[in-house]
Amino acid sequence: MVVYCDCMKITLIGTGFVGVVSAAVYASLGHQVAGLDIDQTKVDSLNSGKVPFYEPDLEELLQAQLASKNLTFTTSYEEAVSDSDLVIIAVGPPSAPEGQADLKYVFAAAESAAPYLKENAIIAIKSTVPPGTLESTEAIVSKKTKTKFMTASLPEFLREGTAVRDTLNPDRVVIGATNEVAIKTLTELHKPFEAPIIIVSPESAQMGKYTANAYLATRITFINQIADLCAKNGANIQEVIQIIGKDKRIGEHYWYPGLGYGGSCFPKDVNELAAYSRSVEEDQNLLNKITSLNEDRIPRLMELFGEKIGEWAGKQVAVLGLSFKPNTNDMREAPSTKIIPLLLRENAEVIGYDPQALTVADHFLPSSKDLHYKDTVDAAIKNVDVIMCLVEWPEIIRHTFPQVKKGKTVHFIDARNQFDPKKITELGYVYQGIGV
Ligand code: NAD
Repeated sequence: MVVYCDCMKITLIGTGFVGVVSAAVYASLGHQVAGLDIDQTKVDSLNSGKVPFYEPDLEELLQAQLASKNLTFTTSYEEAVSDSDLVIIAVGPPSAPEGQADLKYVFAAAESAAPYLKENAIIAIKSTVPPGTLESTEAIVSKKTKTKFMTASLPEFLREGTAVRDTLNPDRVVIGATNEVAIKTLTELHKPFEAPIIIVSPESAQMGKYTANAYLATRITFINQIADLCAKNGANIQEVIQIIGKDKRIGEHYWYPGLGYGGSCFPKDVNELAAYSRSVEEDQNLLNKITSLNEDRIPRLMELFGEKIGEWAGKQVAVLGLSFKPNTNDMREAPSTKIIPLLLRENAEVIGYDPQALTVADHFLPSSKDLHYKDTVDAAIKNVDVIMCLVEWPEIIRHTFPQVKKGKTVHFIDARNQFDPKKITELGYVYQGIGV
């Protein structure tokens, strides 16, 4: 029977953003952790101490844990799972065409691990999955092994860009399980984080994860809608936020009028919850609308920006910030991946800049003679007609933008409302923000 001990054997299946951070953090607590991935290049990179993506503080943590010999990476299920007390699935389930969660990666990971499970091992699902996934996983594993095992839902709430800090200091740890031994083991494992530990049913844990992301995405969509109204009547959305934020029921944080939500989680999770709502005949669910409002946001804003600019054709446009948010090089569903193709279709010339994402930009953006990259803000904005600030990277929002040359018109689009419109206008730019 697995009971918590100071040195548990833990396997993390899937060494993406979530898997690597969790593996390194559990190792830092003194556990023996094996990270497992089907991607040999990723595993080789991790074993050599190199994180294959940008995440602050992670490489240092990884290297320290490799040196302590608490952490290893492999592509072998046999090596990673045999003898493991806790097998955590953290693979990234894609969405199916209708938006529903496609669980094939989660099920494939569970099926591959099954033959090597030791008696009474716990399988915990950290991937974001809909209610019902734990039972389906149990059925798949049971077909492949006679060994007794336990299951739990262990949803992840870290944010890219602050993933190490979030994992070491979580707002809460959620354990969705019914088996007492699994609950006790997972509770003890997470005690060192000194965070509230919420023990609930697997269904509540899974709904809690989706609900958190769906709420945040709804909040972004809501404030964007209010910003659009402000743009019509002379109100300033930032002033409106000051007013509503003082209401304790509402709060001052997490109001980001802009281009809508992106990244690897919000669009996928809202879509999946919307698809789930349709599958249980709750078609009138708000989430269906949130997705379509978010998808329309960038084309609609680009039309509005374009009206002031005249036409995009022949314009040189500096796009500053290619990742979906600061402090990550993750470009999944980043605004840049929608805006740049749109600009290229309109025959603009685009110069892209990002402090970290230039190395991955080719995977996410079309190759075109009209798309170039520069590695400084100054080089990217030289002689352009339009500057678009898409992401609030410090390198962008703290940049000292030069005075516009006499006789030249340069438009400055502040898509995250990070600049003082008065100062930018004084420098000679034609300023456009969001609802300001
Ligand atoms: P990711 O795409 O970065 O990484 C997933 C990894 O799983 C990849 O390295 C892939 O090679 C590996 N993989 C796929 N199938 C496998 C298999 N059968 N066996 C072994 N490895 C396999 O994904 P991510 O961003 O780390 O997200 C993982 C999960 O966590 C998702 O469900 C996501 O929704 C959730 N989540 C992500 C974040 C985030 O900020 N990225 C935050 C909270 C929750």
